Amino acid sequence: MGKHILVLAETKGGALRNVSLEAIAAARQISGDGQVTAAVFGPDSEQYTEELIQHGADKVVVVKNEELKQYTTDGYRQALLQVIEQLNPDGVLMGHTSQGKDVSPRIAAKLGVGLISDVTAIELDGETPVFTRPIYSGKAFAKKKIKDGLIVATIRPNNIKPLEKDESRIMEVEELQVEIKDLRTVVKEVVSKTSGTVDLAEASIIVSGGRGVKSADGFKPLYELADVLGAAVGASRGACDAGYCDYALQIGQTGKVVTPDLYIACGISGAIQHLAGMSNSKVIVAINKDPEAEIFKVADYGIVGDLFEVVPMLTEEFKKELA
Ligand code: FAD
Repeated sequence: MGKHILVLAETKGGALRNVSLEAIAAARQISGDGQVTAAVFGPDSEQYTEELIQHGADKVVVVKNEELKQYTTDGYRQALLQVIEQLNPDGVLMGHTSQGKDVSPRIAAKLGVGLISDVTAIELDGETPVFTRPIYSGKAFAKKKIKDGLIVATIRPNNIKPLEKDESRIMEVEELQVEIKDLRTVVKEVVSKTSGTVDLAEASIIVSGGRGVKSADGFKPLYELADVLGAAVGASRGACDAGYCDYALQIGQTGKVVTPDLYIACGISGAIQHLAGMSNSKVIVAINKDPEAEIFKVADYGIVGDLFEVVPMLTEEFKKELA
């Protein structure tokens, strides 16, 4: 017998976040021959229905309350709990994003169920899903299952492939009514501090700078390389602490955890706390003056040299290749 899995779809800047499509693929895997329902919140939520259906949702529920226009902990917690109550799913999945990390434990705690966070892979043991998640800062992986009751899990971006778009899938959309009350937070303005147009958490290529970039200006060659590659720019805490860039770019144990296809570390020594955020990247390229730098131990390709010479050379070569 299949399961009914609910996916909380997340949007950003008028587009669905890719991790929501990845969560739908995960939900399909868990649901067997059951149903996958995606929920989208906010007055504009209906515009995302087609994409969600085409990527594997059987049904989309839209919750159009004005109070859900911007994410707030209270608003999303209340709305999601009411959607869960109305739909009574067997499982709830969402992205392991700032929002997912914020709302999922509150939902699990309120419902008195377990939460499996930061899932990187799923397999089935009969009909029971087995979730893989990193532990000890990514040095090992644990396999977890929830035997009975509601499954609540967050999916790490860039690990589970979204399903191919299928335009022939039939749309089923339902509007749900929820009551949002006693909001303790009002979002007046959203100030974006991202690393550019590409979302760091979901980027397939990241060019990252450390204290070796030496100044805020030193990041310029990294941004130029990122532009050519369609990459996001990240940073070590060393670079953030030195004031070379915003903390929104920080990757590592106390920053963002990323799993891009390609991670280019420039002037980063490779401290354990930095590795915790990027060592599961598929291919790691390190550029460092010091041949003994720890980063070379996790790198697939190492370039011993001055980043201010190497990075512009790479940019020029990629420009030619990609022209
Ligand atoms: P450094 O260690 O100073 O390394 C700079 C590197 O640049 C050196 O290897 C040097 O050889 C190289 N270099 C210098 N000039 C050039 C050049 N011209 N060309 C090429 N290479 C050059 N760190 C994080 O990154 N993320 C975290 O989330 C994080 N969390 C932490 C949490 C805790 C509790 C603690 C205690 C620390 C945390 N840190 C974190 C800090 C971490 O321990 C390191 O201090 C930090 O990662 C170092 O940053 P860095 O590699 O940029 O700087």
